[in-house]
Order: sequence, then structure tokens, then C-alpha cells
Amino acid sequence: MTVLVTGGAGYIGSHTVRALVDAGMSVVVIDNLSTGFSQFLPEGVPLFIGDAADESLVSNVIAQHNVRAIIHFAGSVVVPESMRDPLAYYRNNTMTTRNLLNAAVKCNVSRFIFSSTAAVYGNPDRTPVSEEAPTRPMSPYGSSKLMTEIMLHDVATAHGMNYVVLRYFNVAGADPQARIGLATVGATHLLKIAVEAATGQRAKIDVFGTDYPTADGSCIRDFIHVTDLAQAHVAALKYLDRGGHSATLNCGYGRGYSVLETIEAVRRASGRNFAVAYADRRPGDIMTMIADTTRIRSTLDWTPQYDSLDTIARHALAWEEKLLSQRPDQALAAVPA
Ligand code: UDP
Repeated sequence: MTVLVTGGAGYIGSHTVRALVDAGMSVVVIDNLSTGFSQFLPEGVPLFIGDAADESLVSNVIAQHNVRAIIHFAGSVVVPESMRDPLAYYRNNTMTTRNLLNAAVKCNVSRFIFSSTAAVYGNPDRTPVSEEAPTRPMSPYGSSKLMTEIMLHDVATAHGMNYVVLRYFNVAGADPQARIGLATVGATHLLKIAVEAATGQRAKIDVFGTDYPTADGSCIRDFIHVTDLAQAHVAALKYLDRGGHSATLNCGYGRGYSVLETIEAVRRASGRNFAVAYADRRPGDIMTMIADTTRIRSTLDWTPQYDSLDTIARHALAWEEKLLSQRPDQALAAVPA
């Protein structure tokens, strides 16, 4: 009995594949390597290079490997890009999942775990945000994920499938042993930009907005270490294996840090006092995003191991330094603290 992981060579997917293998599970991956890296997969995990929307590929892999469950990561994740090219997002996220679900139903795969996002909530009326909060996505990215959630619910109801939807908050950090991490070129995430500044690959980091009505004026986010998120997927699979009912669960720690606090954590981790510039608000940004984690903690057997902003910053930095050592031409002179 095997688990099929789509997008298993990507950032969160590859951490999850390792966690599944470490938990003794048999794993097979489909990834088109558009943003993933085959070398991120542990030895012995079969990789089929192709699209999760390719029903004949998916059906063959399911049949050949006796797949009993699917964890579906493959998709597009850049919010501003989704604004510019919404149809690409409805294709890569919503339509791809439609094909994948069609293959799953035909092949009698009855367990499905789906990567969703806090972006489905849009601007929340109150925080922490519970799963019952209204869903009002503010980008095609968020809409494409919400549409997929709705589709998954309907398919599960009609065909006796059980699923877990995991709504990720701000995923950050890297494998504690620095074997894998975020390697996407041009990533725009706060921690990634901060560690690029700390390693001298950027002259400065901009803080988008310091006039929000928060304690220090910058936005607040609930960062979750990618390894803890990977473990949440393992726990979700075990939950479904135990006969758990379909569930939609927030994935965060339930605690917020400001953008300025996050940058300070990277300064502390690196010992480098890189430049920070105060910039205008970024259009579309939500002020405060913190997960209500009551449901995930009561539903899954999941205890986070890395619930510390300093640890997240340290691991993100160690990974960035490793990446940089493989392309040293990008290092500018970093300012020592
Ligand atoms: N941010 C920032 N400077 C950057 C990148 C991000 O000030 O170079 C802020 C951004 O405005 C937001 C927070 O950091 O308030 C988290 O942004 P990110 O893009 O990492 O994730 P999001 O929560 O938008 O999905």
C-alpha cells in the first residue's frame, strides 16, 4: 500500500515525502519539476516526471503501485502572479485537481489530503481565524484553492471518499539538517527575503507598511515550520487510516509575529545587521493572520516540534547558506553586526 504525493519534489512536498518515508510509509511521487527538484527526493522514492492532471499517468501509477491515498501538493502558489494570469491558476490548481480526482475515483482511491491555504479567508473579521470563518478569497490563487475545496467535498460525498483539507498559514524554515529547503528562484516570502539579505544576496529588505494599527505598525503572521507542517500531513494520513471523517484544518501555531520581529529573528540568527527599509504597504496585504488551531490539535495526533521563530529563522538561514555555497557568485558583502 502506497501513498501518491503529487508535487513531492517541491518545497512542502519534499519535506512531507521525507516525513512519510521516516514514518515507514511507501511513497511514489508525480512532479512535473516546474518548480521542484528531483534531488530533493530521498533515495528509493520513485519519481514520475509528469503532470498531476494527466489522468492516464495518474491511473497507471495508482495501479502499478497499489496506491491507497493521495497527498496533493502540485499547483501554483504565487498570489501576484495569479492576479496577472488567473486562468493559469484555475487550470493548474482547480482543473488539475479535477482530473486527479477523476482518476482517484475511477481507481477507487478513497483517501485524499489537499494543500489549501489561509488565503481562502481573505481579510478575516477577527483573529485567530477558525475554520468556520467566512471564506472570501482576495486573489485568483485563493479562489482556485477554495473552488478545489468545494469540489473535493462534493466528490467525497458522492463517492465515499474521506479527505483532509489543510489550510496552511505562513510556511517557513527548512529541514533541520539542511538537506532540503525553499530553492525557488524569485520567491517573495518574508523569511526568504530576510535570509537573502542576511547572506548578502540583497542590499536590504523592505518592510511593506509600518503604519498598521498593530503594536509595532507592521503586519502580523503565524509562521509554521515546514517540518511541523510535513508532520501534520503524516498525522492526517494516519487519521484517515484510522477511519477519521473528512475534515478541514488550519495549519499554524496560533501565535503571530510582526514583520519587524521576524526580521529581528533573522538578524539574531545570522549575527548580521543587514539594512531594513520602511516602505509603503503592499497592495492586498492582510494586516493580521493568525490561525485558530483548536481543531487541528483536537483532531490529529500532532505536536509541533519547532514552534519557535528563532528556530525557523536559524533553519531557513542554514539552508540559504548551503544554497549560496553552491552558487557563491551571488554573495555581496554582508554587513557584520
Ligand atoms: N513582507 C515585507 N517585505 C518583504 C516580503 C514580505 O514586509 O520583502 C511582508 C508582507 O507585506 C506581509 C508579510 O511580510 O505583511 C508576509 O508576506 P509573505 O509574502 O511572506 O506572505 P503572505 O502572508 O503575504 O502570504
